[in-house]
Amino acid sequence: MASLLRRGLWGAAILVALLAGTIADNRFHAEVEIVKKVPTTHKVVALTIDDGPHYKTTPELLAVLRKKQVQATLFVLGENAARNPEMITQAVADGHEIANHAYSHKDLTKMTAAQCGEELDKTDQIIARITAKPTLFRPPGGLYNETVLAEARKRGYTTVLWSLDPHDWQRPSVDQVVTTVVQHIAPGSIVLLHDGQYPLPTAAALDILIDQLRSAGYEFVTLSQLLQYYEVRGTGGGRS
Ligand SMILES: [Zn+2]
Repeated sequence: MASLLRRGLWGAAILVALLAGTIADNRFHAEVEIVKKVPTTHKVVALTIDDGPHYKTTPELLAVLRKKQVQATLFVLGENAARNPEMITQAVADGHEIANHAYSHKDLTKMTAAQCGEELDKTDQIIARITAKPTLFRPPGGLYNETVLAEARKRGYTTVLWSLDPHDWQRPSVDQVVTTVVQHIAPGSIVLLHDGQYPLPTAAALDILIDQLRSAGYEFVTLSQLLQYYEVRGTGGGRS
């Protein structure tokens, strides 16, 4: 009798846990319009690299990531992807996630809904010809308004910004990039890095900071994997 009762209680507990999971899922979709950081207690982080691919910087970045066995998320521009499709193929073969950064890096907030949609669709089609249709979107410059978010949402995209920005595109020293990232990293961080122009300190910085973060117990995952760590309890985190 006692063991029956215990089993019943366990059943109820599991049911409650399952229901809570369902509610958490719904909340994720309903409330998280933009992801900037993933609230989690796990030491997982995502490296995101914007504006590529570029004939000179992308091979350097991919070589470092391959050497370190790290999978990153590349927010590519449609016009650059069209110019360097073989680099997208290589990135996919290396296990990286390919995401949409619009077509031409223009400010989407200055566009009509139709123009903004076209920027998304053109890039989407170029990527989809090479690999899986992307599910993540980051507006150029991180600039967005209701129209931009609505066009992204209509196409099933999750809009993702970042929580840690070492300004690598402004060409600080390799040490400055490493120090900024290592000092500010936290569980669930989304690190913003760049490709698409030359020279950048980014590849050399990655070579150092990946080892330092691993020594501190961090694990690198793609953005889609990082979103799986989203913990609803607590407030703040990455909501916007
Ligand atoms: Zn960009």
